[in-house]
Amino acid sequence: MKLHLYNTATRQKEEFVPIDPKNVGMYVCGPTVYDFAHIGNARPVVIFDVLVRLLRSIYGTDHVTYVRNITDVEDKIIEAAARNCETIDDLTSRTTKAYHDDMAALGAAMPDREPHATQHIDGMIDMINTLIEKGHAYEAEGHVLFDVQSMPDYGKLSGRNRDDMIAGARVEVAPYKKDPADFVLWKPSTDDMPGWDSPWGRGRPGWHIECSVMSKAELGDTFDIHGGGRDLIFPHHENEVAQSCCANGPDTFAKYWVHNGFLTVEGDKMSKSLGNFRTVRELLEEAPGEALRLNMLTAHYRQPLDWTSDGVKQSKTNLDRLYTALQKLDDVDPAADIVAEDVRDALMDDLNTPKALTALYALASQANKATDASEKAVLKAKLLSAGDQLGLLQLSPEDWFKGGSSDGLDEATIESLIAERLEARANKDFARSDEIRDDLKAQGVILEDGPGGTTWKRA
Ligand code: AMP
Ligand code: ZN
Repeated sequence: MKLHLYNTATRQKEEFVPIDPKNVGMYVCGPTVYDFAHIGNARPVVIFDVLVRLLRSIYGTDHVTYVRNITDVEDKIIEAAARNCETIDDLTSRTTKAYHDDMAALGAAMPDREPHATQHIDGMIDMINTLIEKGHAYEAEGHVLFDVQSMPDYGKLSGRNRDDMIAGARVEVAPYKKDPADFVLWKPSTDDMPGWDSPWGRGRPGWHIECSVMSKAELGDTFDIHGGGRDLIFPHHENEVAQSCCANGPDTFAKYWVHNGFLTVEGDKMSKSLGNFRTVRELLEEAPGEALRLNMLTAHYRQPLDWTSDGVKQSKTNLDRLYTALQKLDDVDPAADIVAEDVRDALMDDLNTPKALTALYALASQANKATDASEKAVLKAKLLSAGDQLGLLQLSPEDWFKGGSSDGLDEATIESLIAERLEARANKDFARSDEIRDDLKAQGVILEDGPGGTTWKRA
């Protein structure tokens, strides 16, 4: 099976054919570092971590370059530093470090390259100069603006026409713009703001030009995949396309545009502005990072994912079961060179993580029932392969049960397994009922059935 990805640019699922299979490039828009990341911000990080694992397994670790930037100059940063009475450098280094720690706790590896916007100001000035020379940008009152009317294809990525854009609240109307849809490439800084000397006076870049320049510096004019959350399609990615294609040449830039759907709370997008967010940091106090990661993968990445504490609890219970299955295979050596094909096929089909998880649970059930030594060796290898593909089961069962809860399984998990066993018995599914009793026993929890129902104690 070949990798297929949904491409926002063509609005269809397409076979992924890299420009050069020896040098596959992916650029994902990274965080604006002014505060702790919320769990919605972590969705693209986990999704693109799964994608990069898959790309590396197809093309080889050394043939894939994953770039994720840090936006360390932006107005939200200036405002937050002033609010916190903190220098901009202190704020951006503190929040960048927190971001790294939080994403590592979710099992997401660092990208191969992590350019910071402030390291690429010269490149931004160069690209803006090129855009002015080519007649795509103009200077007005210390600002430089992109002239959207100079690009007939403007709006193609997001499928918006000019009226939609202007009606959209995200287009800022200003007297110095020729057209309300024109967007800022460079803006003036007052003395108390970060700023760099430029042909247009001391100032700072707009957000969109940052990603056009950092992706070019790291991956060249044309590369394979550009990703981010779907809120970035317009205006951020539309504007990146405009800048890059007008500066570097038509038909350059990203070939496949991959966008994740929103993580929601009771149907609303999780966001700082709505105040309905939970930081990754807070959630890590309540559940292991791996449970948060598994919960993130329960929905297909293009669908909304409603975040609930019940969902997280269920994901933790599911991980307890997966690690229990692995624990039973502790004394088995995994068979060599075996891949969990069902998991891989699901991921090759536009990263179908819910289907991949179903395949993973099926492997765990088979492993629980297996008695034959060679079958167990194959199943252990498949479970570990499935885990590697999804970034799960990266601990030893012993470490999971030590860290997952201080004293073995927590009470809520035990109670929910007892309820599930009761239901299995009511359905005369005695195999499942026995499996639950045995799993619990393996984790030091003994069940006792009596006239008043089932009680439990730790062994
Ligand atoms: P920001 O720092 O707001 O630019 O967001 C960083 C990344 O998180 C971008 O790729 C956003 O699209 C993404 N993002 C922000 N909020 C959510 C959300 N609620 N669900 C999914 N992705 C989100
Ligand atoms: Zn970007």
